[in-house]
Amino acid sequence: MPEGDSIFRTARALNKALAGKVVTGFETALAPLARVNDDAPVLGRTVERVEARGKWCLIYFSGDLILLTHMRMSGSWHLYKVGERWQARCSAMRIAITCGDVQAVGFSIPVAEFHTARSLERSAQVQELGVDVLSAGYKVSEAARALREYGRENPDAEIGNVLLNQRVIAGIGNIYKSEIAFAASVHPFRRMQTLSDREIERIAEIAERYMRTNIAEGKGAGIVTYTGPRRTTRAMDRRSRLWVYGRQGQECRRCGAAIEMRKQGTGARPTYWCPTCQPALGTREARS
Ligand SMILES: [Zn+2]
Repeated sequence: MPEGDSIFRTARALNKALAGKVVTGFETALAPLARVNDDAPVLGRTVERVEARGKWCLIYFSGDLILLTHMRMSGSWHLYKVGERWQARCSAMRIAITCGDVQAVGFSIPVAEFHTARSLERSAQVQELGVDVLSAGYKVSEAARALREYGRENPDAEIGNVLLNQRVIAGIGNIYKSEIAFAASVHPFRRMQTLSDREIERIAEIAERYMRTNIAEGKGAGIVTYTGPRRTTRAMDRRSRLWVYGRQGQECRRCGAAIEMRKQGTGARPTYWCPTCQPALGTREARS
């Protein structure tokens, strides 16, 4: 699943390419969108702006029309010059928005809806998003408060699952979940009731730092949490840039212990941690 920071970068690139431009072509393979487009054509509207909200990408058109998309595991937006060869199968095209010589093409996008400002406000899924770690207004104190509040209501919830819960903090994906827990020295299977205020604050701080660094880098998958020692090979394996994610059985970069992995939560998402740097409070929390 794309992490929040990659959605943020996508939205930023789309905004840069499309904002202020008039739509000169609109195509979609999604029937519900096509129906709306028949009644209230996108053609001729101006793209006002493109924003990310959590893992949602929102394209605002003039005349109160908003295209909401979610990438889930498979979806992506590409930008092309008109006439340029697409880097994905044409049959995977779901939405194509042309503005003069620029074309934004959404491939394999599983969730797409048109909204008005009002219907978007009422839309449960976007509205219920928690504090967005990438929004300009993100405050560590607010994210920490959201985590504490959730922890009070769900004392047995495991922090690794809570970090993925977009209703608590929006924008963190499965890779960062493990990386943030490592950097905060918190075992990802610890239950919310066992976390101190200080640990929760650290988690909120690190979440912001990691996500912002990745936006600033702005290239490719961009996920870098571990930065030294510098490698000289040109092929920088993405996993060599991470503390624990994807490193089961390998040495912890901090202490040398073998990194462990276990699937966690209803989605059985792989979770990685160092048993020494992130001690479990008791065998029950760690191994049950
Ligand atoms: Zn370690």
